Amino acid sequence: MSVAMNQPQAAVFVGPGQPFLFQSFDRPTLSEGEALVQIDCCTLCGSDLHTIGGKRPASAPLILGHEIIGRLVETTDGLCAIDGAPLHQGDRVSWAIAASCDDCFFCRAGLPQKCVRLFKYGHQGIASGTPLSGGLATHCHLVSGTHLVKVPETVPDRVACPANCATATVAAALRVAGNCAGKTVAVFGAGMLGLTAAALLRSLGASHVVVVDINPGRAERATEFGATSIDFSEIHSLTENRGCDLALDMSGSNAAIQQALSSLRIGGRLILVGSVFPTEDLKVQPEDLVRRMIRIEGVHNYTPADLQFAIDFLKTEQNQFPFESLVAREYPLQDLQRAIRDAVDDRPIRVAIRPS
Ligand SMILES: [Zn+2]
Ligand SMILES: [Zn+2]
Repeated sequence: MSVAMNQPQAAVFVGPGQPFLFQSFDRPTLSEGEALVQIDCCTLCGSDLHTIGGKRPASAPLILGHEIIGRLVETTDGLCAIDGAPLHQGDRVSWAIAASCDDCFFCRAGLPQKCVRLFKYGHQGIASGTPLSGGLATHCHLVSGTHLVKVPETVPDRVACPANCATATVAAALRVAGNCAGKTVAVFGAGMLGLTAAALLRSLGASHVVVVDINPGRAERATEFGATSIDFSEIHSLTENRGCDLALDMSGSNAAIQQALSSLRIGGRLILVGSVFPTEDLKVQPEDLVRRMIRIEGVHNYTPADLQFAIDFLKTEQNQFPFESLVAREYPLQDLQRAIRDAVDDRPIRVAIRPS
């Protein structure tokens, strides 16, 4: 008997400071357009840790975890990947964190991540009626409107898991940024997003990528991911004192954003990605924006095409950058509490959880 026949199990988050509850769930009966995935691996994202630590509101009880890789164990008629390829039982898949209706105002406006009927994996309360929607479980129930990508066997689990969070988000930011070839780019924050951004920027032909982080150890690591410098002051010499063409903030820190703004050349562009939690107001001098002709833009999550781009990037470039090394350790689902403790205490970029 395959594991798929077993009853789904999950670690349920009931609230900050409370132990996770390990529970069994009924195997869902699939409706049209749905699928069931047997989870191989899920990496813990910073946002999961924020929720667990009580810094981010959540509709508990719920099953956390959205950076998931797994295999289809049950599909419904006509299930297709983003590229139109039919999907079958046994296919290894990643999927967009947000399922969307493809029909509402925002979906039609090219912002499916803001769909009015949004369903977000790892964020839905059990009370929503689709309890198995997170990665800290043996199975995940994919609802209609989920955008899937087939993941080649050559991309290891540890590399593939964060694709539908950090890699796709960075792909979205760089799509918005436009052609980066030959440009000097400053990246603020050397976590998963910043390191991935440096790697993707170099692959897309950026001439100089300066990665800045308040933690020197983290910044150091960026040199393995394509950063040409980790010294902010070098931006001036690299650009004959003009300033950089593009700055990306992945940190969400206002101090970093102020520094990013100051680093831009006339006509430069700042893209904010990391500000996904409340902060103080940002001090911006409107005259400075006008006279220096600065553009500031926010990018939140991504579209299905960005996820496809992310998986293709990892497939072809994974050997150029040590992505696998960013997942420090793996834990079985039963050891989730220990995994969380280690993730909080040691602050590795990621830890991975395997349901079996
Ligand atoms: Zn994430
Ligand atoms: Zn919609």
